[in-house]
Formats: sequence, C-alpha cells, structure tokens
Amino acid sequence: KKYVYLFEEGNSNMRQLLGGKGANLAEMTLIGLPVPAGFTITTEACNEYLTAGHKFPDGVLEQVFTALERLELDSGKSFGKKNNPLLVSVRSGAAVSMPGMMDTILNLGLNDESVQGLASLTGDSRFAYDCYRRFIQMFSDVVLGVEHARFDEVMERYKRKLALIFDYEIPSSELQSIIEEYKEIVEQEKGFAFPQDVREQLTMAIQAVFDSWNNQRAIVYRRLNKIDDELGTAVNVQCMAFGNMGLDCGTGVAFTRNPSTGERELYGEFLVNAQGEDVVAGIRTPTPIDRLKEELPGVFQQFLDTCQKLETHYRDMQDIEFTVEKGKLYMLQTRSGKRTARASVRIAVEMVNEGLITVEEALLRVDAEQINQLLHRQIDQSVKLDAIAKGLPASPGAACGKVLFDADLAEKMGGAGEKVVLVRSETTPDDIHGIIYAQGVLTARGGMTSHAAVVARGMGKPCVCGCEAIKIDSGNRQFIVNGIVVKEGDVITIDGASGNVMLGEVPMIEPTLSDEFALLLQWANQIKKLAIRANADTPQDAARAREFGAEGIGLCRTEHMFMAAERLPIVQQMILAENLEDREEALSQLLPFQRDDFYGILKAMAPHPVTIRLLDPPLHEFLPHPETLLLEIAEMKHQQIKGKVLLEKEELLKKVHSLSEANPMLGHRGCRLGLTYPEIYCMQARAIFEAMVQLQKEGIDCFTEVEIPLVMDIAELSLLKAEIMGVYEQVKKENNCELDFTVGTMLELPRACIMADEIAREAEFFSFGTNDLTQTTFGFSRDDAEGKFIPIYLEKKIIKDNPFAVLDRKGVGSLMRLAVEKARSVKKDILMGICGEHGGEPSSIEFCHIVGLDYVSCSPYRIPVARLAAAQASL
Ligand code: ADP
Ligand code: MG
Ligand code: MG
Repeated sequence: KKYVYLFEEGNSNMRQLLGGKGANLAEMTLIGLPVPAGFTITTEACNEYLTAGHKFPDGVLEQVFTALERLELDSGKSFGKKNNPLLVSVRSGAAVSMPGMMDTILNLGLNDESVQGLASLTGDSRFAYDCYRRFIQMFSDVVLGVEHARFDEVMERYKRKLALIFDYEIPSSELQSIIEEYKEIVEQEKGFAFPQDVREQLTMAIQAVFDSWNNQRAIVYRRLNKIDDELGTAVNVQCMAFGNMGLDCGTGVAFTRNPSTGERELYGEFLVNAQGEDVVAGIRTPTPIDRLKEELPGVFQQFLDTCQKLETHYRDMQDIEFTVEKGKLYMLQTRSGKRTARASVRIAVEMVNEGLITVEEALLRVDAEQINQLLHRQIDQSVKLDAIAKGLPASPGAACGKVLFDADLAEKMGGAGEKVVLVRSETTPDDIHGIIYAQGVLTARGGMTSHAAVVARGMGKPCVCGCEAIKIDSGNRQFIVNGIVVKEGDVITIDGASGNVMLGEVPMIEPTLSDEFALLLQWANQIKKLAIRANADTPQDAARAREFGAEGIGLCRTEHMFMAAERLPIVQQMILAENLEDREEALSQLLPFQRDDFYGILKAMAPHPVTIRLLDPPLHEFLPHPETLLLEIAEMKHQQIKGKVLLEKEELLKKVHSLSEANPMLGHRGCRLGLTYPEIYCMQARAIFEAMVQLQKEGIDCFTEVEIPLVMDIAELSLLKAEIMGVYEQVKKENNCELDFTVGTMLELPRACIMADEIAREAEFFSFGTNDLTQTTFGFSRDDAEGKFIPIYLEKKIIKDNPFAVLDRKGVGSLMRLAVEKARSVKKDILMGICGEHGGEPSSIEFCHIVGLDYVSCSPYRIPVARLAAAQASL
C-alpha cells in the first residue's frame, strides 16, 4: 500500500488522503511555484497507526526513508551527515484546516556533528547553532514532552546576562553553551540523552505528529467545529528553507485580500531574519508586509506575482505562509483564507465582477449563517477587550447599558430612553415587555434556543445566555462574577456574537448593508425557489421585514397583542368571566385593539399575504402566578384587609388553580380553546375582517390567511372554519363587500401530518409549526430538554444536532415529507410553508426546498440569511 507521496505525485484534489496542507504543497509544486522539496505521509497511515495502538503499519517507515533518499539525491545533501547536512520540517496537516491545533517540528536532522557541517557549509556558525537550539527546544517540547518554558528560562537568563533584547543577537559561543544547558535539561527530565540518531529523530517526530491528532486542544477544536474525529492527520516532511540566515532572509504570512474588510490588497506580516515560530512568539513585532517592498523589492515583486497566480489558480482568497532565504522566495503553505462575513460578501461579489467566479459560485462561497453578523451592531474587533465572563453567543450583535434585574423596571427605564441590559437567571414569556425595551439580554441559565435566545433573535436583539459564571443575587440587586460585584445600574456590554460580557462601554461599529451585500441578495432572489416570509407580530417588525426583502408574513402571533399593559386586565376579565355574556362583553372591548393591530400589520405588508394565527397559548399564561397571588393574599390578611378586594383575590386564585395544567404544552391550548370558547376566535376573525374592510375602503390591497393552530383532525378545522365563515358572512352583509382571504391550519402534531390528506379537504393552506412538531415527534419537552439532556444526547452522539435548532430530517422530516405528499395528492396546489425557528436555519431551509415547500418564514433579521440559504439550496 502506498503511504508516502512525493509533493510532485499529489495535487489539490487529494486533500482527504494528503491533508489540506500536503495537497496544496503538491498543487503548488505542480504549477511550478518555488516549494522546498518534500513528501507527505497519508492520513490513512495515521488512522491505521492510531487504531493499531500507536504502531506504524507495515511499510510506512520503509517508504519514508526511500522518499528521504530521493530528497537527498535531488538536493545533493545528506541526512545527518557532517558534510552538507539535510534538514527537514515535520508538519501536521489534516483534511480540514485546524490552524495551530497540531504540532510542527523545524530543523530536524541536526545533531552534534551535523550542526558543525551546517556551520562550515554556510560559513555562519551563529546561524547553525541557532537552528540547533531551536530544534532541541521544539523537539523536546513536542516529542519528548519537556515544557517549553524550561528552555525559555535559559534563553532569558543569557539575554539578561549579555544585556541583549533579541534572540538573533546572541553570539555563536553563547549559543553553544545554551545548547549544552538545553541538553542537560532533557537528560534531567527524561533520563536519557537528546537523540543524536537522525533517523530516530524523524521516526519519533512522525509519531508525535500522528499522536497530536488526539491532543486536548485538537479534540476540543474538532468538537467545536463539528469535525469528524476519524479523519486523522497527514504528515509533511519538507526540506528546510532558512529565514534566519541574515538580513536578506525572513518569514511571513499573508492574505491575498484583506480578511477583515475584503478589500483587494495584500495583507500580512513579515519578520526579517527569523524562523516560523518567531512570528507567533511575540518577542518581536512583525512588520506590515509592505516593508518587504522596501527591504527586498525583488522578492516582494515575485511574491506579489505568486499571490496573484495562486488566487487565479484557486479562484479564492488565499492565506499564505512563506520564507525568504538569502533573497530567494519559498512558498510553504496556501489555503483558502478565513474571513469575516463582511469580507466574505465583498470578496465573492468582487470576484464575480473580476470574472474570476460565477454568480452561482459567489452565492455558494458565502456562509449563510455567518452573514447574520452583518445585520447587527458589532464590537469593534480592533480594540482589545477584557471579558469578565463568557456565555453562549445566542443572538449576535453588541449591546451596552445599565444592568437591570427585572423586566418591569427595564420597560420603565428603557421606555424612558435609558439604555439597559436585562440580566436574568432565565427569562419567561412574562419578561417580553422588558426585553422589548432592553438593548440586550444576559441570562445565567438556558441554551441557544432558550426562551431568551429565541425571543432576542426574533427581535434582533443581542443576547448572551447560559452564562453560568454569573451569580445573580436579586435580593441585593447585584450579580457576582469571579469575585467582581456588578450592581444594578452599572454599565456592562454584552457581545452576542462571541458570548463575552464586559464591564463598561465598549467601542462598537454600526451594521453596514453594503452595496455588495444588496447585490448578492439580489442574485439570490433570481435563483431561489422558496419564497421568504417573516414571523412578525407588529407593524414595525413587518416594515423591517420588508426592508430585508420579506415576501409576506408566515406567522403573525396574536398572543403578544394580549399581553400589552392596557389590554391584559381586559384579557383577564375575559378569562375569568363566569358566563358567555360576561366573556363577550370583555371580548367586545378587545375587538377594537385587535382590529387596529391587524390593520397596521396588513397595511405594512400589503399587498403581500399575512398569515394570522388565532390565539394559541394556554389561558393561564395571561394570569398572575399562583405564588404571587398567595403572597398577596397573605399580605392582605396580615394587614387586616377584608371584604370585596380580598374576596376577588381569592376568587382569582381559585380560577388560576383551576386553569393550571400538568402539561400545558399538551393541554388546553390552540384550537382546543377555540372549540371551548368559540367567541374568542369569532372576535379575532371579526377584527381581521373589519381591518380588511377598512383597508379596502382606503384602496389598499391586502390578503389574509386565517390560521388555526394545533389541529389534529379535520373535524376540528371544519367546526372552527364554519364559525369563521359565519363571522365573514356577517361582516360581508354589514359592509356590503367581499374580502380576499383563506382559512388554513398549522401542521404541528404528528397526527395532523399523517392525516394531512384528509385535513387538506378543508384547509386552504398548511404551515409546519416545527417547534411544536419537534416537541411532539420526539416527545421532548423543549423547555426541559434543552437545558437538561440534549447536551448529553449530543455528547453521546445519540443525536447529531439539537433538533430544535436544526430540523431533524430523519424523523420530523419524514412526517413533513409525508404530509406534503398527502396534502398535494388531494389539493395539487395547496400552499405549504414552515414557520418554526427552523425557517431561518440554512440546513433546515435546504430541506424545505427539497421537500418542495412554497415558503419559509423566519424572524425579520434572518431574512437575508434565509434568502441566501434558499438560493444555495437550489444550486
Ligand atoms: P501550522 O499548521 O500550525 O501553521 P506549519 O506546518 O504550517 O504549522 O508550520 C508553521 C511554520 O513553520 C510555517 O508557517 C513556517 O514558517 C515554518 N516552517 C514549516 N516548514 C518549514 C520549512 N520547510 N522551511 C521553513 N520554515 C518552515
Ligand atoms: Mg501553517
Ligand atoms: Mg405551535
């Protein structure tokens, strides 16, 4: 089996086998760029080595040393010999780029003898001993596990003694003493001498690089970035190019375009007279790449040309590592460069304009999830920040304001124009009003899809959640984090993109909807098949959604409208009513409010369709908590308050108790409310129709989809639809006009999906409510699952993603597919969409495209993400 490939035997398509670094070194060799000769040991060799319990598979070492002989032959140098010694680097490189996560060893092949050869060959003993001390330090650190710091101490001591600042100023003789001390450290620590046999050095180094696949930071990095643990790393063995041979030498890193802004300019750093690791060591500050132009103009021009050539060849922005030895350029690495969302968009669009890539490629180049960053205020990355805590980056953007611990106060102060950040252990629907008026939300508990996170993302507000380090002490109106006390009113900044929490105000930059971004989204619209709608409950949200390109509203929830301060008492009166008459009286007071709500939203979205969902949540959500009531009653009794007030409170408590449910999510909610209290839905229907009549009078074209939630059987829908049509007949007669609307339902219960063909006979549209559908399909209560056991399920690899964040194609997806087929078998053109949180998540959007939905609906701020993801799905 072939385990070893010379660079000239590979190419960039072999990244699975050769790793990204190896495949690109081969490719660069292939297109004639100056790459130091070398070879790659395959990822297969690594995987077999690891599964065999850290033993080389048969033949690997033989092939390595045969390849090494080729390097010796081609270079005229010999490995480990005094005469013209060959030095190599041993470099890790997986198929997926994991920068800095695994190990690299430079200057391998030096020992007490060959170092003298290197000295006499180059006529520079300082250089030779510098290489040797670097090698001992690196090899001992990476291969033998001797701490780096042990060697640094020695270097520091010498520099102090000699009153020198830079490593390269240390003279040859002193370097030799340093080397002796280094070797002693190794003997002390390991009980054996530093290996002098260069073949043994190479074997051990290869082994160490293979092993580094499973070091802690690599494992963590893979988990974080969802990289498969089974990929393994390749090892590249490459002739050294020396950047540390004098002032006409150096090493550098460059991007072919600015990775932060996307501007077309060479961007990078260069360090004169240095080797790879010096750039990161931080002792010497590298100079901007432009300086290379002044110091080595010939090399600079060659480098520019090479960068150009690489970019044209790979047709993408490249991240390049290079070294200059005695005025000669060597290319050591190239890969597609990581970039910010802003840069990503600009580069993609400009490359289309430059004729480098097609529109379709540009759309695929930009990460849909990442562009979410562009729609929020952001922390200025150029400023260095000290975070006091880190939570989950739940909703991007940065928010700064005074710390407040309760939603009422947040509403009051925020409403008065103060900038506040709401800090809670966790949030509940009761906190909505506070969130609306806060700049952002910080919670101590809860995951990426906790209530706070979902609501904040929906509103486009920054949110950091699950920040376990903060201990909230609401009694003293403060929180404590790592010994720091933050009091109510103190100013903090949260960064919802990184999860960082900082004290005080931090510099920020406003979102810029660049021309490039607008153009990219325009291209997306030409290609995508799915329509993109918004989940919006207010005219403001609707207007914002349109700015971002929404083609309708896929979900307008009506319950938030019931929560507003001036309405809640009436809502409560309605719920507490003992008889139909009292309830209708309360509902008649709510009617004008609802009519105004619907009027505003329909107008903001006209002429696009608006799906209005009739009341969905269980009624007790509108009533005070029983604990609060109990406390109030106790307090009244204590203060000897009696009579009607007390009686009313006690009545209220009784009612609250009677409405409380063991399992509210599966309880008395959705269409079940509508069936128990038809007058509620009738009022809402009337409000919708009267708003439409008003708009019609004003000559505004509008279209409503009246949506009935939580249906599991056609009979439910038939009954409620009849009620609604009854109201319509009345309104029609009263106003002598016809209105344009449809009546449909959500598919959010497995039974509804299975019966979709039957239900489709009554329904004029379907919308998948995938939040509930996921809950009911998995039998996971979302509020409990996300905090408690989903993390464990993820860790144990029972599930690959949180199903509330990424649509579960296998289970929930099968139900959706079935429902689409069944519904369309009855009504070929029935409108079908999705309105759960998944409607804004790229992989879920792709699935919606595949099963043939008509639209996805998501929060206004995610509309650009959805437009791009929908386009990508159809490419
Ligand atoms: P990483 O994957 O962490 O970037 P690399 O294998 O790219 O590690 O090595 C880090 C640095 O070591 C390179 O950027 C380069 O400066 C230096 N280096 C690696 N191989 C050589 C070589 N053959 N000649 C000179 N320098 C090298
Ligand atoms: Mg590198
Ligand atoms: Mg639902």
